[in-house]
Order: sequence, then C-alpha cells, then structure tokens
Amino acid sequence: MELLFALFIGLAIGSFLNVLIVRIPKGENVAFPPSHCPKCDNPLKWWHNIPLVSWIVLRGKCAYCQSPISKLYPIVELITGLIFLIVAMKTGLNAHWFVVSLIFALLLALSVIDFEYYAVPDSLNFTALVLALLLPLVDFGWDWIVGDLKDFDLYRHALILSFKNAAIMGAAFFILGQVVKFLIKKDALGEADIVIAATMGALLGFPLVLMAIYVAALLAIVPALFARGHMVPFVPFLALGTWIVYIFAPTFQHWWTMIYA
Ligand SMILES: [Zn+2]
Repeated sequence: MELLFALFIGLAIGSFLNVLIVRIPKGENVAFPPSHCPKCDNPLKWWHNIPLVSWIVLRGKCAYCQSPISKLYPIVELITGLIFLIVAMKTGLNAHWFVVSLIFALLLALSVIDFEYYAVPDSLNFTALVLALLLPLVDFGWDWIVGDLKDFDLYRHALILSFKNAAIMGAAFFILGQVVKFLIKKDALGEADIVIAATMGALLGFPLVLMAIYVAALLAIVPALFARGHMVPFVPFLALGTWIVYIFAPTFQHWWTMIYA
C-alpha cells in the first residue's frame, strides 16, 4: 500500500517533469498557460492529463486533432514513478524519501534535456544541488516532526559533510575540465557537469561518489565509440551512474572495503 502510494506520487511528479522538460529549454512559463496540444493548441481536459493512463487510452494521439503525442511523456512518467517506488523500498515513506526521489527526478529531467539540446537549464540543475546539500536539514525537520530526534551533532556533521563533499567534487570536476581543455583544446566538461558532480558528492558521499563517476564513465564509453565525433551528452550517464550506485550502495561499499581493507 505504501509502495503504491509512492508509485502514484512518482507518476504525478513525472507528469509535471514533462512540463519542465518541454517548457524550460524554450524559456516558457511552467505554470501558464495550462497544458495544451502543441499542434492544435486545444487545452487539455483533466482526464487527458492522467499520467500513463491517458496516453494509453488516447493511444498516443491528441484527443482533438489526432496528431501523435511523443512516447517520451509516458516513458518519463513511468521512470519517475519507478524512481519514487524504488527509493521508497530503500528508505520507507518519509521526507528523506521524497527529497531523494525528487533529486533523481530532476536528474532524469536534466538527462532528457541534455539528450535533446546538449545543454541543461541552470534552474533545474541548481535545484537538485540545493536539495542534495540540504538533505540533512530535511532529515532533521522530519525527525523533529515525528518526534524521533537523534543526537544533534549527527545532523550537523551530515550537513557539513554534504557541503564538503559537494565542494570537493565540484572543484575536482572544474580542475579536470581545465586539464582536458588544455590537452584537447576543446570544452569537454561543461559548467553543468561541475554542478552535477557537486550534487553527486553531496548525495552519495565518499567513496560512493567516485564509484558513481567510474560507472558513468564505463557506461559512456560505448556510445562515445559509436558517436564518431558527434557529441555525446554526459549528463544522462552521470545520472545513471549515481542511480546505480545509490540503489546498490551496500554492494559498492562492500567492494570498496574488500579492496582497501
Ligand atoms: Zn491536438
């Protein structure tokens, strides 16, 4: 029952994510005008807007003009639903669950936008970073509300650590970007990647964030080989690496101690 709730919240957030993905790169307002068909401009009724269900019932076509609606909409909704569901299985339903899921939902939106535009909007990128940085404060607030406050130093340490980890990862990516730029005379790592690396640092901490970067690089090798000079968006791989390491954190942690203990 709890997991079903998590799934439905995720589907609803996914629906809003679609609005962000379509409108933010075009510089449009995300709240106004209300959802409409991009072809015939007819405003959508609420039953055209039910995540996943509407797309299937309408068979991927606009209810007015029958022009096809991108498969991307239901796919983003489904993935976001699964993000909220799977994180809930790890954390249970609490503020931590919601904020972590939201960070991954934002990383998903950034991935889709990077894939389409080879650039990502700062607004979404920095929102994810701020959420990741302030996660210990969110935990503190939640524990206070449910009356389960632990040692205050615990939250303070976690907060300082999340800022430290973000700063280290951001600085590392900045330096890496400068070195690569010097070597190949091309911008390989953008400012957006620096922000995402900082988000990953705050969210995962060390050593997990290093393993996430490693996984991301491994995943990116194959498309980079096939791209032959075409640009390969890196954000989707950073996001995927972060997700994989977050979900299998105990396993990765175990490997790390096996290697270095
Ligand atoms: Zn239409």
